[in-house]
Amino acid sequence: MTNFLDSLVAIVGPSYVITERGSQTKYVTDWFGRVTGNALAVVRPSSVSEVSFVVKACASHCVSIVPQGGNTGLVGGALPDASGKQIVLGLDRLNKILHIDSAGKTMTVESGVLLAVVHQAAQENGLEFPLNMGSEGSCTIGGMLSTNAGGTAVLRYGNARELCLGVQVVTATGDIWDGLRALRKDNTGYDLRDLFIGSEGTLGIVTAAVLKLVPQPKAQLAALIAVQSPDKAVDLLRHAQSTLGSLLIAYPFSTSTPFAVLLEITDHESEDHATASLERLLESSIESGLVIDALIPQTLAQSSRFWEIREHIPLAQVEDGKNIKHDISLPISKIPEFLKEIQAHLKIEFPGSRVIVFGHLGDGNLHFNVAAPPGVSPEVFMSQKSSVNLCIHDLVHALNGSVSAEHGIGSMKVEELRRYKSAIEMGLFRSIKSALDPQGIFNPGKIL
Ligand SMILES: Cc1cc2nc3c(=O)[nH]c(=O)nc-3n(C[C@H](O)[C@H](O)[C@H](O)COP(=O)(O)OP(=O)(O)OC[C@H]3O[C@@H](n4cnc5c(N)ncnc54)[C@H](O)[C@@H]3O)c2cc1C
Repeated sequence: MTNFLDSLVAIVGPSYVITERGSQTKYVTDWFGRVTGNALAVVRPSSVSEVSFVVKACASHCVSIVPQGGNTGLVGGALPDASGKQIVLGLDRLNKILHIDSAGKTMTVESGVLLAVVHQAAQENGLEFPLNMGSEGSCTIGGMLSTNAGGTAVLRYGNARELCLGVQVVTATGDIWDGLRALRKDNTGYDLRDLFIGSEGTLGIVTAAVLKLVPQPKAQLAALIAVQSPDKAVDLLRHAQSTLGSLLIAYPFSTSTPFAVLLEITDHESEDHATASLERLLESSIESGLVIDALIPQTLAQSSRFWEIREHIPLAQVEDGKNIKHDISLPISKIPEFLKEIQAHLKIEFPGSRVIVFGHLGDGNLHFNVAAPPGVSPEVFMSQKSSVNLCIHDLVHALNGSVSAEHGIGSMKVEELRRYKSAIEMGLFRSIKSALDPQGIFNPGKIL
């Protein structure tokens, strides 16, 4: 192994091959501090050609590679296993914005650029990159694409996949595939870009990408709305979509009592138009009994405060102690039925357990968390994790939902994937993996 480590040092320089355990901690531990792995080394190249040489060195020594961006993923995808034989390939030094095309509304960036930096650069050019999430100060474009991240505005702009026109990828042979095309129409054979997006580092290393930008809106306005039940929240969504059309960009939901909806609109006409449209919607919704009460912020700061409350739910849960988390999606019309049925099941099977649900109702995505009954230690309750997961995921599957809406599979949901995907689908997955990475050096143990 000394030879191998020497060859890595020769490629990226001695400061960027970290072998000392103490200095590796942040690269081998997940964001919640739930999972820790061991790495042979953490290697941090600064260019696509260095990535290519590192992959070639790993391939010739049969050493597996765990790609890592900001390490904010929530399913253990960016962490090495316990063996101490894998390297973590940190992509944070590929951090250059390569090109902004204001007329074509695209930005070409290296994969280690932070999402927050992309937002800032787009804004400085009078444009916007419309994917926002709580981790934007730490997560990278490569990680965002490799997990096909969602965020708050999926309802209007789609997931990361819909916001990417092209990618550059280092393949398992160390070759550099230049797919950095800024084309909105390109039907020339198999779509390799879409194969790499969402593949969680198991098929190739994303080293750069062309992102789609949109014009900056003239106004952005949120309202915090109280509704009686999940059924009313779904009815309000339908009403808001038909009244507001494309103004509606986000529709998160929480089951704290009364049920809360955070509805956000953007407007390309004017602030007055945005306010009038939102007020019209709320008036008609209160009149028809869809809404109990609503708060419209008077300032942008107040609007951001609503979002802060929403973004702080995961942090508040960390304070509350460990709980059993699920990132699920369902056909929107089935959400009320799911909530009713699952709470009844949990009451019988795990009496006293507390349910904390929030998420992106507009996308059918719920973060469905189950916490220990009052007086029971969270640690003790966590021992029931597998049975709680099974209870929830079986119902999600029966209602044609997904057991991973936006966080991916990583190492934590491999069993679930096997349980709920058909043999045919799993077979196709394996064929793709062995065609693109026959040696299996990219992120083994993740997804498959
Ligand atoms: C507070 C908080 C809020 C969040 N909110 C959301 C949300 O609203 N929506 C959402 O979808 N997710 C959310 N996440 C999850 C996470 O932030 C996203 O999945 C993010 O896109 C991961 O980016 P990253 O750079 O941290 O990737 P990492 O965690 O480093 O990696 C994630 C996966 O991608 C692979 N990978 C990383 N970079 C590359 C690359 N360049 N090439 C190939 N593979 C690569 C890794 O191997 C791993 O499998 C949240 C996380 C936190 C902590």
